[in-house]
Parts: sequence; structure tokens; C-alpha cells
Amino acid sequence: MKRSKLLVVGSVNTDMVVKTHCLPKPGETVLGGTFLMNGGGKGANQAVSAARLGADVSFICKVGNDTFGERAKKTFEDEGIDTSNLLFDPENASGVALITVDDRAENCIVVAPGANANLHASDIPDLPDLIKQADYVLMQLEIPMTTIQTVADIAHKKNIPVILNPAPAQKLSNNLLDKLFLITPNETEAEIISGVKVTDEESALQAAKKICDLGVACVVITLGKKGALIYKDSQHEIVPSIKVEAVDTTAAGDVFNGALAVGLMEKMPLKEAVRFACKAAAISVTRMGAQTSAPYRNEID
Ligand code: ATP
Repeated sequence: MKRSKLLVVGSVNTDMVVKTHCLPKPGETVLGGTFLMNGGGKGANQAVSAARLGADVSFICKVGNDTFGERAKKTFEDEGIDTSNLLFDPENASGVALITVDDRAENCIVVAPGANANLHASDIPDLPDLIKQADYVLMQLEIPMTTIQTVADIAHKKNIPVILNPAPAQKLSNNLLDKLFLITPNETEAEIISGVKVTDEESALQAAKKICDLGVACVVITLGKKGALIYKDSQHEIVPSIKVEAVDTTAAGDVFNGALAVGLMEKMPLKEAVRFACKAAAISVTRMGAQTSAPYRNEID
């Protein structure tokens, strides 16, 4: 059977994490504990999640001409991801996130986007063909908005469905929203896009309706351990999450999005695809890390 093709256009970061008893105040130096270096970036996390669940993933991204970039490329190749459109930026370093986590799991994060901020549609001359060959396109908001808009415009023209995970949160133009097949905000992102404060199921529904009115065909709002709300064709439904002992929710949303894309590509009805995504995300929260926590297909089946 021919595997469905997912085109991910997004970010690559290297997460550098230091554990410490307490976070430093401005001007203070604290002696920390363990140091960990992990693959991150929402685009990379979602590409890896989808590949582990069986999709044929092609990843358009930009890294620096440095060891972080080389390391990321090798990781994607090991995951079976097509890296022919992983670009090396001669001017900017690879994206990095400097993360400090204290004993209470409070964190402090600074992201240097580096090459991610320099990923432009004009870098990829055969972008229209790559989009045309895909069954679905999956994007997030850690690359320039002009790139996201161009990809969405081309996909819309060619009738290729676009899934947008609108993270990190920001307001979106109607011109982008009406090119999307599906949008997957969490509660904060839904609030920023819709202007409706999301505090419970009812307000999530109001936010979803507002977002649909702005032009998106389907909305799935992720509600953390409460699961996800689906809104489509003026109907809504809550898919509850799977009850697990959560140890680290980092990248739960990324695993959810990668899995949701796989479910839809396999022609699961939306509700079934959301249930599949909830299962994948639930497994991921029982493990530490971002890409390291993404499950393989046999763990879900
Ligand atoms: P993150 O920023 O941590 O990646 P997010 O804010 O984008 O996550 P959430 O809504 O927190 O996204 O979580 C995404 C999905 O992950 C939820 O819809 C749910 O299915 C699953 N999930 C999150 N937290 C838990 C949990 N504690 N137990 C089970 N499933 C969870």
C-alpha cells in the first residue's frame, strides 16, 4: 500500500535544558544540576511524531551551517524523514532554546530562532510541486508568517488540505484562516485568535464557532488533560483524553498534531483521528522530553 505523504513546513530547534533547584533572578548566577540537549522545535517535533506513526514525511525547514544543524539532519534521516528540503543557512545559526527547569517544574525559556526566521518560500523553487505531491500539509507558527501564507495559498489553489497548529499564540489574518482545512489551537491560542476567553467547554465551543466564522472549515481545540473539542459543520463534540500518570507534558500538543495528521491521512473520520491523537499524546506525557517522548505506531495499535 502506498503510504500517505505529509509535508511539514516548520521549525527546528535544539533544546538545551539545565535542571536547577531555583531559577536565577536577574543578575544572579546559580549552580545547576544535570544538562540535557534534546531535539526540539514544533515543526521537527510534529514531523518526528508523524513519521513514527507511519507517515511518509517530507520536512521543509532551515538550520544553521553548524553542528546543531548537522545533528538535526541526522536525527530526521534516522527517523525516515525526507530531508531533501532541509536547507542550511550560511548566515544564521541553528535555532536554539535555552531552558532552565527548577525543582517545582517551573521553567524559564529563551528561544533564539536563528535560521528558522530566515526560511522563505523563495528558498524552495519547486515548492508548488512539493505541495501538489502531498496528501496533507502541516504547519505551526515558528517560521515567518509570509512563508506560512505562501504555502497556504499554494495548497489552497491545488486543493491540498492544510492543518495549522497556531503555536506559539498569535493573532491570524482572515486571509490565512480561510485557506485552512483544520486549525488546532490550545485554549490560550483559541482565545487569542477568537477573542473569546476559554475557561471551560462552553467557552471553548464559543471560541471554536468564532474561528469557524473567520473561515476555517474545522476546528479542534486541545484542552490539556480534559481532551479536545471538535467543531465542524456547526456540530461539536468533546473527545476525552486518556487517563495516565503524566510526568512531562512538553510537546503533548506536537505529538497530538503529528498523530492527528496521520489519522486524517489514513482517512479516519475526524473524531476517530482526534481519538488516535489523544492516545498518542497521552503516551507522550508519561515520558520525559519532546521528540524522545513521541510514541511508535505499535504502542498505539
Ligand atoms: P504543549 O504546549 O505542552 O505541547 P499544548 O498546550 O499545545 O501542549 P494541550 O492542550 O496541553 O496542548 O495538550 C494536547 C493534547 O495532549 C490534549 O488534547 C490531550 O489529548 C493530551 N494531553 C495533554 N495533557 C495530558 C494529560 N495530563 N493526560 C492525558 N493527555 C494529555
